[in-house]
Amino acid sequence: MKNEFIAVQFELLADLLEIQGANPFRIRAYRNAARTISSTSESLSDLVIEKQDLTQFAGIGKDLAKQIEEITTKGQHSALEELRKQIPGGVLDMLRIPGVGPKKVSVFFNELGLKSLEDLKAACEAGRLSKLKGFGKKTEESILANIAMATEHSQRASISDARAAAELIVEDLQKLKEIGQVAVAGSCRRRKETCGDLDILATCSDSGPPMDCLAAHPLVDSVLQRGETKQRVRLKTGMELDLRVVPEESFGAAMQYFTGSKEHNVVVRQRAKDLGLKLNEYGVFRYDVQVAGRTEEDVYAAIGLPWFPPELRENRREFEWADAGKLPELVTIADIKGDLHMHTTASDGAATIEQMAIAARERGLKYIAITDHSKRVSMANGLDANRLRKHWDDIRRIRETISGIEILCGIECDILEDATMDLPDDVLAEADWVIAVLHYGLKQPGDQIMKRLMTAVTNPHVDIIGHCSGRMIGRREGADINFSELLKAAADNQVMMEINAHPSRLDLDDIHAAAAKDLGIPIVISTDSHSVNGFEVLEYGVDQARRAGLTKDDVANTRTLKEFRKLLKSS
Ligand SMILES: [Zn+2]
Ligand SMILES: [Zn+2]
Repeated sequence: MKNEFIAVQFELLADLLEIQGANPFRIRAYRNAARTISSTSESLSDLVIEKQDLTQFAGIGKDLAKQIEEITTKGQHSALEELRKQIPGGVLDMLRIPGVGPKKVSVFFNELGLKSLEDLKAACEAGRLSKLKGFGKKTEESILANIAMATEHSQRASISDARAAAELIVEDLQKLKEIGQVAVAGSCRRRKETCGDLDILATCSDSGPPMDCLAAHPLVDSVLQRGETKQRVRLKTGMELDLRVVPEESFGAAMQYFTGSKEHNVVVRQRAKDLGLKLNEYGVFRYDVQVAGRTEEDVYAAIGLPWFPPELRENRREFEWADAGKLPELVTIADIKGDLHMHTTASDGAATIEQMAIAARERGLKYIAITDHSKRVSMANGLDANRLRKHWDDIRRIRETISGIEILCGIECDILEDATMDLPDDVLAEADWVIAVLHYGLKQPGDQIMKRLMTAVTNPHVDIIGHCSGRMIGRREGADINFSELLKAAADNQVMMEINAHPSRLDLDDIHAAAAKDLGIPIVISTDSHSVNGFEVLEYGVDQARRAGLTKDDVANTRTLKEFRKLLKSS
């Protein structure tokens, strides 16, 4: 079990306590613990297995240690479950509204008795919020405007949450002695940024044991429906999951069918038809004789198609590539050699330069860039020219003492609202690596946003645009960007584009990353790590790149540092 999984439960518990109006010290204790847990490189679940004392960690007392033990050994958290019973799920949905935290939700729930997004919407429309102490008309209007976004996304989980749940359940089903094959299908297997629900397929001579196992699983809230071969359950997160038990000879066909996408499958079915074949979730049939179905490879081969990596199955260009015999060999996580976006204690990171470098080396990376924030991000303790130069001196000193990994002096420099850079050119000129980003004023009109991005792209020292749109999936829309104009300028000015691997960013998205590739713009997949555990998100960035059809060659940080440097405009 990943530390992140435990941290999320503690954060949620703190949110619930805050909504309930509990003692602030108790709330803070959970939040501090969550922070400690997510910034620790050792796996807590391993430590529990080794019977180590968890109170060695700052902020983890006896009680919290017991709770961690419960989560890692039983997969459940009784303190959290107890609270969940007292606070309706719809109250938690309100936390998805941008600008609304547990404090405000507490007021909505306790003072106005609102229990869902619909309740809150009605209260805003009736002007009930603006009558509350500390809430004005403006707040009420902005909450109302943001509810639609929260409603739209409340049904969808981020790919990281979806995968965590699906993979844990698959792992547990695999332990059954009766079970044959088990695998995740659906949008989760295609690694879409968000998933509406989950699909798991299994083979087993008797559907009883896997369905019983799922019904009793600690992540499962309730069984919605159970038939001979299909069971639908609701997870405690609100997500729904379908388990289908299929015959061995149909497993490949079922995987192909339930992985989707619908659009991809329409074309595959038509191709089968053109060959006089019938394709369904049980197999490929000529007349009524099954000719394939056991594996996906067989299914595609029977229709004269290559096996498609699930990330490509969107009916975009995969059939065109397949027909030309040019299905791209997609980049893999093993190809990544460097990570060029991360933070340290110099700004808002949790680890020192040294700790980040060592953690990166342990993960097999050959080079990194330390890219703390510039001064505009004052809440993250952003660096001005003086502090930045001192910080770079520290990096230069430390890189002499650490072998096996190269460290670049970088900066994540804000592009200010007035379309100037947050640091002067002479400072940027001294950096090995400059990421330019929009953090503030994302709602400015498109013209101004483009003016800002153009300032960055045409700056001689900017190497890359980081998390281009600034979106936070499910919480905040990205800036109004004219991508064709931006990408063309980036190509002309030898500026790279980042895929930020954090599952709430994944920015560039798959469509724009594919467009960047077409223009020959090198893509860098970066973790934007704020702690030694931050590197774990790399896989989500790689998945996004794969969805864009990117090969190892298209991704700049698959190169050795020497080769990577040749792509820089200063080279
Ligand atoms: Zn940033
Ligand atoms: Zn960053």
